[in-house]
Amino acid sequence: MDTLLLKGKPVRDAVFAELKTRVAKASRRPGLAVVLVGDDPASAVYVSHKEKGCEEVGFHHVTHRLDAATPESRVLELIADLNADPAIDGILVQLPLPRGMNQEKVLVSVDPAKDVDGFHPENLGHLVAGNPRFVPCTPKGIIRLLSHYDISLSGKSVAVVGRSVIVGRPLSLLMSLKSAQGNATVTMCHSGTRDLAAVTSRADVVVAAIGVPRALGRAEIGEGAVVVDVGINRIEAPERASGTRLVGDVDFEALLGHASAMTPVPGGVGPMTIAMLLENTWEAMARKAGLDGNG
Ligand code: NDP
Repeated sequence: MDTLLLKGKPVRDAVFAELKTRVAKASRRPGLAVVLVGDDPASAVYVSHKEKGCEEVGFHHVTHRLDAATPESRVLELIADLNADPAIDGILVQLPLPRGMNQEKVLVSVDPAKDVDGFHPENLGHLVAGNPRFVPCTPKGIIRLLSHYDISLSGKSVAVVGRSVIVGRPLSLLMSLKSAQGNATVTMCHSGTRDLAAVTSRADVVVAAIGVPRALGRAEIGEGAVVVDVGINRIEAPERASGTRLVGDVDFEALLGHASAMTPVPGGVGPMTIAMLLENTWEAMARKAGLDGNG
């Protein structure tokens, strides 16, 4: 069986091109503020990708880099300032926050109308209610990616492995909504799932979002299934000059020729996440201006 590679780059490029066109016609540029606390190297890389994305589509952007020892009260003050800043439409607090900082308190302090990451309980509530407003970027990107490749979820059985509030849980909700791009029967799996392989191997679509390198292989994935690999794991690779390489949560090589379609890592879900962040920022500005999300 040929495995169709679900590459994110062409979809991301199309979203970027559309946003550039909208920005060129808009009366002002959408503004994104990123709050980065601490010196986590992976977070620094993700933030630089977000900055580059803003540059590419012509958004106003500002990154606030704060020392890991910054008191929580200072972070809350900064977010209050950004909430009140009319040039800022979207606020993103890069996770994880340093140990000792109350992540929930910080996320709740973001104005729900500027919560482009979709992690505020108010926005998560809209999603649960079946009327999503800001949808978290990675789940939104996965739905867009599948739709781009004409992979319908309607009536399909989906196993989402991982239940984080960033990926697995909102994605499970989105896929199960009674909507054109959802309507799937979803099983959300996690570290407590008994006989994971029995659940995943029967699914038409398997999403892996666990953060464990190459954990799912042929024993866990049924022949002909669609595989969405969200994982980004850096492993040792002595054959590379850098000494490391990125792999996903599924065993890509083992599933080639077994899955009907599969996202590569890197280059699958990752590019979609940034594209959806920028789209959410555009939507935040458009909503504020009383326009619809299409400007
Ligand atoms: P979390 O660590 O927050 O959540 C992991 C989830 O996987 C938990 O629900 C956990 O279960 C479950 N889990 C862990 N190990 C197993 C296992 N062996 N079997 C079944 N379930 C398991 O991770 P995130 O959701 O934040 O991220 C997941 C992966 O996706 C990471 O590699 C991350 O880097 C990547 N990622 C990629 C993005 C992209 O843009 N491509 C964006 C965001 C994340 P339990 O709840 O029981 O602990």
